[in-house]
Amino acid sequence: MKTPELYYRVLQTDGDVLKKLTNYYDGIVIEAHILEHYTNFTTSLVSAIKKPFFIDPTHKLALFNLECIAEKEWVIKIMEVYKISEYLQEKEIDLELLREHLNTFVKATIKYQRARLSESSGGLKLFGIVPESQELKPQIILAPYFLIDGINTESYKLNLEIIEKAIPLKDKDKLYAVLALEGHLLSKDPSKIISDFAKEGVDGFCVWISDFREYDEDPKMLKKYVEFFEELSKVGKPVINLYGGAFSVFIGKLGFIDCIVQGIGYGEYRNPFVHATGGYPKRYYIPKIHRFVPIHLAQELLAAVPELKCECDFCLEANILETQEEMINASSLKKHYVLSRWREKQTDFNDLYRNLTNTIQLLDEHGVLDKYWYHLRHLKNWCEVLESFSSERP
Ligand SMILES: [Zn+2]
Repeated sequence: MKTPELYYRVLQTDGDVLKKLTNYYDGIVIEAHILEHYTNFTTSLVSAIKKPFFIDPTHKLALFNLECIAEKEWVIKIMEVYKISEYLQEKEIDLELLREHLNTFVKATIKYQRARLSESSGGLKLFGIVPESQELKPQIILAPYFLIDGINTESYKLNLEIIEKAIPLKDKDKLYAVLALEGHLLSKDPSKIISDFAKEGVDGFCVWISDFREYDEDPKMLKKYVEFFEELSKVGKPVINLYGGAFSVFIGKLGFIDCIVQGIGYGEYRNPFVHATGGYPKRYYIPKIHRFVPIHLAQELLAAVPELKCECDFCLEANILETQEEMINASSLKKHYVLSRWREKQTDFNDLYRNLTNTIQLLDEHGVLDKYWYHLRHLKNWCEVLESFSSERP
């Protein structure tokens, strides 16, 4: 049975959960602007958890335009480190200038990933922590990337040029190419994109399908999504989904995704055109439904269908059903979620698929499937797409 690894994007508010639940995830991902903003926190977290990690170098820079970015101050700091802040004209990176100095930019982003944590570890000595240099070395290096808006467009060509420049710099490290694609590209034949990016010297792939929401997509798009990962996995190199949720766990079980990244309680998708700020609403992950719902909805569903209740220690502590939303402990919700996702990862594909069909039946019997269709319809969509992979299909 194939089992995808689970990595979490780090937020400065998740330190406690990540430190306490080290047995329930495989690694972490650090976005460069978080590393700049919370340097000591990040460095001490990495040395405390002793798990593999890698850095997402251009998470906030995926668009050339900075209009939609919150935390601009930190992004500009990163641009200085990457030696591209001078190419900022108004609020947009000048593509021509960037191209002229592409080598310098690629070099700086790779150096940053290799060295930023060990350089900052000096600050930790003040707290009596002396991390070993090996612990602060990222597991893989990502080629810097920009969102691709079409095949053979400027952004497409630029990403390929970046990868070509990164390959000779990888030395003994593993270099991953990032396929940051606008969602409409899934409707195209993936073989051209894949063959263009599967260059010799690339050791693996990271995928970001922009604004792809696994719960909201219809079966046709979900099928394209699965097919894309299936095609990419045929290259024979590891595939990381940079923004994936429970549906990606199913795909991972099929052997098409090797590692799934998301945030704790957020980040199952990412739309770079939305001005995202910190702060995520309290939500509860219902394991049998494989999705987060607002607390009031979780309370209604759990009351209507008692079989949906989770009996883990964190749920018993949070006591969702009998506690007012503002009194519910956010940390328990996060821990319950990390544990639930880990259990999904441990479950065989056919069992996961059977549970999915059983849950649909259960919800239908209790008369909630139609009533809460908007929040539950993904179950049927997922079943429809995954059915052909199940050994129990009719
Ligand atoms: Zn629980």
